[in-house]
Amino acid sequence: MQKFLRRTVLGTLKTFGAFSLARESEWRRQRLLILCYHGISLEDEHQWRPFLYISRQQLERRLEMLLEGDYAVLPLSDALERLYRNDLPPRAVALTFDDGTYDFFRLAHPLLKHFGLPATVYLTTYYSEKQRPVFNLICSYMMWKAREMRRADLAEFGITEPIKLTSYEGRQEALDRLVQWAAAKDLSGEQKDEVAARLAQKLDIDYQKLRKKRVLQLMSREEIQQLAKAGVDLQLHTHRHRTPLDEELFRREIRDNRAYISCAVGGVKQHFCYPSGAYRPEFLPWLASEQIVSASTCDTGLATRHSNPLLLPRLVDTTGRTDLNFESWLSGVGHFLSTRKRARLAFVPD
Ligand SMILES: [Zn+2]
Repeated sequence: MQKFLRRTVLGTLKTFGAFSLARESEWRRQRLLILCYHGISLEDEHQWRPFLYISRQQLERRLEMLLEGDYAVLPLSDALERLYRNDLPPRAVALTFDDGTYDFFRLAHPLLKHFGLPATVYLTTYYSEKQRPVFNLICSYMMWKAREMRRADLAEFGITEPIKLTSYEGRQEALDRLVQWAAAKDLSGEQKDEVAARLAQKLDIDYQKLRKKRVLQLMSREEIQQLAKAGVDLQLHTHRHRTPLDEELFRREIRDNRAYISCAVGGVKQHFCYPSGAYRPEFLPWLASEQIVSASTCDTGLATRHSNPLLLPRLVDTTGRTDLNFESWLSGVGHFLSTRKRARLAFVPD
């Protein structure tokens, strides 16, 4: 009902010209919309995690809308410099993609190139080095794929009681148990990959096919290098996609991440994105000590020159967001109707 009301209100506002007024206003000119994407489906990932993945077609439509609306899509660092100088062009937007999964290389980058749009990829690097599917995610994805299966024998992973794969809760419980079981055994990355392969067998899934297709894998060093050559901006997202509460460990995450990216593509990396959008006040001085000049959250909003550069809001674009809603955010109208400022990304595992 709320959705229906919002759609009606947005439709009416658009009809009566509010979108155009906002889009061309001085208020909007002083603001930057940083769009946040995660994965683009190689298969059906957007049906599994609609908040994390969108289809290629949906991304293409979004990029078309940016061009149709004459939005000024700027490279992130230029956009931020101009934001704080109060020198943004009208309708400023920056594009960011979190994590750096292979689907960016395969699907998003060719689209961006086609439309001539700059983008920043916040890259997490541990799995880039390893070239294996991200363990927690691939297990969750396979359980979802096997959701019609009535019974799965997961005893060898320490799950002795029956698990209901048909429900989200059942799958989540099975995943938590499996991850805890692997952690208790202190399995290496390679051993975890063998566990994922055995789980696939139990769930009647062709694991080698998923691996070959590079579902839920990070881009390789060579792919990152190709992107850098093509002008894609690669920035920081921690090495292991986590933010330890200990300062030394936290800073090591940044340093390892930075070392990997700089070694692969050169350059000084000073823009950061909080994994899963999770931040705490103590992180800010730690980031500053590592010479980080900007940090993106998943909190919803347009950035202004009064925004803390280490707590930048973005708009997380998802499968469920309609074109109308997306356009309302591009124009700035969405800002006034938004009630939920924190993004629903709490379920993204480390
Ligand atoms: Zn992430």
